[in-house]
Amino acid sequence: MKHIRKLITVVVPCHNESPNIETFYASISEVVGKDVEHDYELLYVNDGSRDDTLRKLTVLAEKDDTVRIVSLSKNFGKEIATTAGLQYAHGDAIVIIDADGQHPVELIPQFIEKWEQGAKVVAGLRTGRRASLWKRTGSKLFYSVLRRTTGVGLNPATTDFRLIDKSVQAEFNRMTERNRITRGLIDWLGYKQEYVGYKENPRLAGASPQSFRKLFKLSIDSAISLSSSPLYLVAYIGAIVLPIATVLGLGMAINFLLRDPLHLHATGGAYLIVLILWLIGILLVSQGIIGLYLSHIYTETQNRPLFIVDQQHSRNI
Ligand code: UDP
Ligand code: MG
Repeated sequence: MKHIRKLITVVVPCHNESPNIETFYASISEVVGKDVEHDYELLYVNDGSRDDTLRKLTVLAEKDDTVRIVSLSKNFGKEIATTAGLQYAHGDAIVIIDADGQHPVELIPQFIEKWEQGAKVVAGLRTGRRASLWKRTGSKLFYSVLRRTTGVGLNPATTDFRLIDKSVQAEFNRMTERNRITRGLIDWLGYKQEYVGYKENPRLAGASPQSFRKLFKLSIDSAISLSSSPLYLVAYIGAIVLPIATVLGLGMAINFLLRDPLHLHATGGAYLIVLILWLIGILLVSQGIIGLYLSHIYTETQNRPLFIVDQQHSRNI
């Protein structure tokens, strides 16, 4: 039987990574060169770089057959760039890795080994973190708020540095939502995950193109895309305020009709406040109802697959 070598696609999203292109290529080529068992495809996604990135990539593609470039028309952000890479990847397994050298390329064989042993998703698990203090605090805060508000417990240490099987790629590509966080969607798909621990390297050169504003937006987007429970919040508040205001209102009405039996000496202002509280309660409840419908519409428009099949077994195939 002829042995057919499996193809590994390495997806590399790049935005203004000009100073790092050659260094990264050299280090990944070394890893690829050592692996005689698999074929490789280096799929660079140029995410609207304004520097020399595309030209440098083109030079690589001209001299190396394994290099492919998908160049986007403008900067769409890392998540979309990665998604584009996942759509264009041909491999039996796909490795997603940053172009800035922060993800150690020498660990790729470990990812592939776990995949060969049957894992469909192998996620990089970051151990010692070198990110700046505000980034670390920010991400810690984000994950704990996310866990508390939405009940979705993403593992904060897992990163985009991961390998997915072709079958997971196919499921991933079925998802059409626009606001997305790649690892969140891969986690949502399920499948048993294996992990490879790694220590993040310092960035090779250049400043991180992921600005605070982008990261902040990404956090909010992912929280919203993972859950619609914030919409339930107003409904809950309304459900608390309205009964309290109703009870108070009834009390005040009885008090008024029985001519102040408890000698509360409630002023006109007090009556007004209870009335306003009651009206606010009604408003909150009706907003809450709208929120609930919205949350259903939201999950419907996300249009995620109803289920994901991992395996099928049957004796009569
Ligand atoms: N990146 C991208 N588009 C963007 C921002 C970043 O393709 O709009 C790429 C970037 O070139 C790098 C990877 O995504 O290869 C991770 O970016 P960065 O180092 O800024 O992220 P961090 O290390 O902070 O997660
Ligand atoms: Mg980085």
